Amino acid sequence: MASKIKEQVEAEKRRQISIRGIAPLEGVVHFRQDFNRHVHYTIIKDRVSATKRDYYTALAYTVKDHLVGRWLRTHQYYYEIDPKRVYYLSMEFYMGRTLTNTMVNIGTLFPCQEGLRHFGLELEDLEPCEVDAALGNGGLGRLAACFLDSMATLGLAAYGYGIRYDYGIFEQKIEGGWQKEEPDEWLRYGNPWELPRPEYVLPVKFYGRVEQSEQGSKWVDYQLVHAMPYDTPIPGYLNNTVNILRLWSAKAPTSFNLKFFNNGEYLQAVHDRNLAENITRVLYPNDSMFEGRELRLKQEYLLVSASLQDLIRRYQTDRPGNFKLVRPTFDEFTDKVAIQLNDTHPALAIPELMRILMDDEGLSWETAWDIVNKTCAYTNHTVLPEALERWPLSMLERLLPRHVEIIYIINHNFLEDVEKRWPGDADRKRRMSLIEEGHEKVVNMARLCIVASHAINGVSKIHSEILKKSVFKDFYEMFPERFQNKTNGITPRRWLILCNTDLSDLITSKIGEDFATNLELLRGLEQYVESESFLRNLIRVKQANKQKLADYIEQEFNIVVNPASMFDIQVKRIHEYKRQLLNCLHIITLYNQIKAHPEGNFVPRTVMIGGKAAPSYYIAKLVIKLINNIAKVVNNDPEVGDRLKVVFLENYRVSLAELVIPAADLSEQISLAGTEASGTGNMKFMLNGALTIGTLDGANVEMVEEVGEENFFLFGMTVEEVEELRKEGYIPRKYYDENADLQQAVDQINSGFFSPEDPSLFREIYNNLMFTDRYCLMKDYASYIAVQRKVSDLYRKPLQWAAMCLRNIAASGKFSSDRTIREYARDIWGVDPSAFKLPAPQESSTWLGRSDYNKTQME
Ligand SMILES: *Cc1c(COP(=O)(O)O)cnc(C)c1O
Repeated sequence: MASKIKEQVEAEKRRQISIRGIAPLEGVVHFRQDFNRHVHYTIIKDRVSATKRDYYTALAYTVKDHLVGRWLRTHQYYYEIDPKRVYYLSMEFYMGRTLTNTMVNIGTLFPCQEGLRHFGLELEDLEPCEVDAALGNGGLGRLAACFLDSMATLGLAAYGYGIRYDYGIFEQKIEGGWQKEEPDEWLRYGNPWELPRPEYVLPVKFYGRVEQSEQGSKWVDYQLVHAMPYDTPIPGYLNNTVNILRLWSAKAPTSFNLKFFNNGEYLQAVHDRNLAENITRVLYPNDSMFEGRELRLKQEYLLVSASLQDLIRRYQTDRPGNFKLVRPTFDEFTDKVAIQLNDTHPALAIPELMRILMDDEGLSWETAWDIVNKTCAYTNHTVLPEALERWPLSMLERLLPRHVEIIYIINHNFLEDVEKRWPGDADRKRRMSLIEEGHEKVVNMARLCIVASHAINGVSKIHSEILKKSVFKDFYEMFPERFQNKTNGITPRRWLILCNTDLSDLITSKIGEDFATNLELLRGLEQYVESESFLRNLIRVKQANKQKLADYIEQEFNIVVNPASMFDIQVKRIHEYKRQLLNCLHIITLYNQIKAHPEGNFVPRTVMIGGKAAPSYYIAKLVIKLINNIAKVVNNDPEVGDRLKVVFLENYRVSLAELVIPAADLSEQISLAGTEASGTGNMKFMLNGALTIGTLDGANVEMVEEVGEENFFLFGMTVEEVEELRKEGYIPRKYYDENADLQQAVDQINSGFFSPEDPSLFREIYNNLMFTDRYCLMKDYASYIAVQRKVSDLYRKPLQWAAMCLRNIAASGKFSSDRTIREYARDIWGVDPSAFKLPAPQESSTWLGRSDYNKTQME
């Protein structure tokens, strides 16, 4: 009887309009055959011996098979029509999981789910077997991943180039409230999504010296390391395009350490191969923090050198693996190649391309410089001075002697141009020199990028203005036409359709499914803000998402949270400028209010904070300890009950974001104005129907523009007010003296209220707040607390709250990375997204749920 009802419900689900597509019967049959075949022939298991992970792996191969035809066809097609290629160079690609994303993008989610049920398997149970590809720190790396999805979806001939780290961002464990780092062994069980391409291995040179001869400069006595490419397919959304992400892994050449072979020290020579292969061993875990390590410099150069060789080979030849040069000159290079530098991390592409064009290809300086300028563009991601890359000249000289010569010449020519424009202005030349003189000489990589690129962009309106007005003011005066804005975005496929199926189905039921590739269509939801039945559906979807997160929290952390409480969430890297500590001050204040009025009528809240701190960032790690200690006090106080709970979300990463963000009622975006370049977490929350409490910083400014101030909980100083305050001389102590609640909270941190076992544990946090407070928490506290009270008041009115959520969803269309990529394509790369629609693949793939083959026939 019960199974009969379940069957009817399932049949009803299938009839509903769903973003998941439909599952024709013969498709499910074929899926079962393919899946079975992989369990037996690829995994070599049977139904008795197969583990969950085996089923995951078999499923991954089954799904990947259906990428192959599109993958091959896409690249045949690119070689046929020879479009301008876009190369996105990034030290980070924070991809997360691939399985469900692939199924969503090729339209097979529903048939796969159906097919799995015949084996008694649920996709939801297999998904967690996939370890995140966490080759990124935070926003910058995740942006690169969203861009790959959008570039493929827009049919751009685009390639991601990065590093295949053996270890991605560390796994965060919380022990006794402290962050512990453990290695991320993401490749332990193999990676079904990548394909090694040993036939395209490329040599990369390090160290040595430069020899001058008649023919010009020659780099000699270098050490060789090989760069081995691994390709990961990047499917566009229902458009038959499969682009590639090519990641380089360092490999010792066969000849490595030949001198040892000659001495007969065979074992030593084999042993030392690790020296070369260590280059791509591990991702540097710093977010917005520069650490001038030689190994990191080697990683950056390996990326740049291998990628440039690879893209030049692609320019010169007419099919992969063909070494016959069909294009022997560089005359068309700037029409066929665009290179985007994701921050300054790949800035060595500039001197490296100069070196190749002059020393290897024999072009003149002027010709080479013109080519570099027309192909390269630079995206700036932060204005924090400690994040700007400044490599010691001495280190660069040892590792890359020829590149330093080239940088000197670039600087010489550039300073001559500065002199022409501003004769005799020595101070300006000092301010603009690529080489900064301090106690040691360093190369300012951002200045190198600005001088060499045709386009420089910030990542939100306000950030791009700050670049022009302050950090790069001198450069803006010299090259005003180069400065642009490209407000960041997120892919609605992963951040709505994949992670919040129920919400995307609800949206589809009202406005159809085209929002998936045209997110501005969400505006069509505004007409339902007064529909009580729609708002109730919205509330139901949110409640189900909150229940899922509550279950996870109970299972993982053994904390019972009240699913009816407001889910108040701040997830992002732990950094002082992001002000997790301000959130803490609010939690403490709420706690004190409950303690002062135990009978009071409080809006129940569950405050969740998650994020990793750089292992060497002492204060950030102390903030994690403080959050956990506050949680311990608050969660174990019987007088508080379930009116306030505090949860530290351990090991925040892309897959956890996909669970957490759809469950949020309130999104905390509380950085000091002028410090967060854009933020993308803010956009994910907005798209998933959370309300935001935030400052006028980064993309928050544009979110307010889109949704209206009345639908956003704004607080804190503006950039101008921060500037003003600093001019006056900021005295944090003043706000402590003025505000009794702030005083109480700060005193509790200082006195050991949250660390009775070690009362002085948080002394440094106290000192920071009272005497430095670089990010003005003390000043913004009062305004933050006042607006948090308004948040609680509104939460008492569920329909009003839901209507405001709906207005936010409806206004979030601007923040699709499709929009961002269209702007890059038009204003920087000079390519046209609509020009390349792929033909259908020839493979017979009968079980695919959607008729996506003929949807995008070649026009
Ligand atoms: C989106 C995202 C970020 C960036 O979040 P911000 O709030 O913009 O700093 C960081 N980490 C992960 C895992 C993300 O998905």
